[in-house]
Amino acid sequence: MTTALSTGEAVTATVPMWIDGQPRSGLGVRSGPVFDPALGRIIRHVPFASGADVAIAIEAAHRAGPRWSATPPLTRARVLAKFRDLLLDDRENLARIISEEHGKTISDAASAVQRGAEVVEFATAAPHLLKGEHAPNIGRGVDCHSELQALGVCAGITPFNFPAMVPLWMFPIAIACGNSFVLKPSEKDPSASVRLAELLQAAGLPDGVFNVVHGDKEAVDALLTHPLVRGVSFVGSTPTARYIYATAAAGGKRVQALGGAKNHAVVLADADVASTADALVGAAFGSAGQRCMAISVIVAVDTIADLLVDSLHRAAARLRIGPGREADVDMGPVISAEQRDRIHRYIETAVEDGATLVADGRGVHVPGCEAGFFVGPTIVDHVRTDMSVYRDEIFGPVVVVIRVDSLDSAIELVNRNEYGNGTAIFTRSGAAARRFQQEIEVGMVGINVPIPVPMAFFSFGGWKSSLFGDLHVHGLEGIAFYTRTKAITTRWPTVDTRVALTMPTMG
Ligand code: NAD
Repeated sequence: MTTALSTGEAVTATVPMWIDGQPRSGLGVRSGPVFDPALGRIIRHVPFASGADVAIAIEAAHRAGPRWSATPPLTRARVLAKFRDLLLDDRENLARIISEEHGKTISDAASAVQRGAEVVEFATAAPHLLKGEHAPNIGRGVDCHSELQALGVCAGITPFNFPAMVPLWMFPIAIACGNSFVLKPSEKDPSASVRLAELLQAAGLPDGVFNVVHGDKEAVDALLTHPLVRGVSFVGSTPTARYIYATAAAGGKRVQALGGAKNHAVVLADADVASTADALVGAAFGSAGQRCMAISVIVAVDTIADLLVDSLHRAAARLRIGPGREADVDMGPVISAEQRDRIHRYIETAVEDGATLVADGRGVHVPGCEAGFFVGPTIVDHVRTDMSVYRDEIFGPVVVVIRVDSLDSAIELVNRNEYGNGTAIFTRSGAAARRFQQEIEVGMVGINVPIPVPMAFFSFGGWKSSLFGDLHVHGLEGIAFYTRTKAITTRWPTVDTRVALTMPTMG
């Protein structure tokens, strides 16, 4: 299938939406710029859907829904299996599209596509996962079974930092469960989602089952308030997550809204300094720190702090900063000029607040990319919990070091934090690690693993202000989110026709 997004060369001036199996241009009165963050240049425009445009997509999804939900789960799974193959065949192309609009390295983008493909793989187990329960003879001659039925039209609203992987956390499972889907990807890097739509169509997905609308708050609000939308999955910042949760829930919709993070790595004095520093530099500065599971706080316990900070500094100094499309680059730019300037302000304020700047990412120079949105790896030591550089999610290549004297203090510090997405402990002590994993109030925990992103067959989600809603994404919680349970009680009567007004019992 040759399209502008499959050739690796053609540049579409305007990113189309995707409705009812067709790329749709000409929608949206307003539009926004899409940048190449490495060059700091506008490379295309994205139309912003109005409420009426979004309604067209929702109605297309609604029309396609009944036939798709009546399609046997095995047939649905086979479409997804084909999609998984096409996705992996297209991985390098998708990675190039992602890298161009997001800025991350092509190898990092390709790994994220791989993680997304693993969710598709999980979703192909739908025939097994949708079986429900059955209990014969719950009373004399009475059987009971449960069915997991599709919700109807589901919506996904996704952030800029994983333009393929985060949508792939959602729609493969929604579709496998028999729902239809409308995706509203980030307006900052919208092209990958249209490529996913092309691949789904090539895999045999019926038109209308998967749709893409672009836009900002207006498009999102239309999804949150449309009566035909039954479930809303959101991933993004905490203020938006709170808003999505409150608005969609007020309309009676099922919602899962994953928010921001401030992920702590606790390093005990018995940890191996060099390998821990390498792991933490990867976790703090990979994707320029723009990962919801990035480590942004290092809690150095007891005597390890000086050695650890020195090793972090040396490991960070070896990173090559440049455009993500270049093969030997470790770290690309951040998403926008505003975000670069915001990060600079956090660094300035940290210094004014009395923290020690060990590595300063301001003023990094990348030859040939003078207008790019680059910030170098930044390490801030002697940080206190009242400083904004600690309190706020910065979402850039900035890691702070807080020094504490014991594991007790470290656990208390992490648990006091507003967020609870991911955390990690580095130690050689099984007892300390076990205590940490039990007492820490965070949804995803790594033990000597810096970015503990669960595989597709586990569920992904944080606690506290990192998630609003009851169910995490993918894994069995994903199946629960995208289905509703119906319990069916069956009797085939023979002669018993007495009227009974009491609550039925089955004895
Ligand atoms: P964002 O909240 O600005 O945007 C996310 C989505 O919401 C986008 O599609 C955007 O168009 C839409 N949106 C933005 N403002 C809105 C508003 N006022 N009303 C309605 N919709 C709105 O987030 P972002 O900057 O794109 O992504 C970065 C954030 O996402 C970080 O906070 C990061 O931690 C978080 N994130 C969390 C996870 C997780 O699993 N918890 C994963 C990835 C990213």
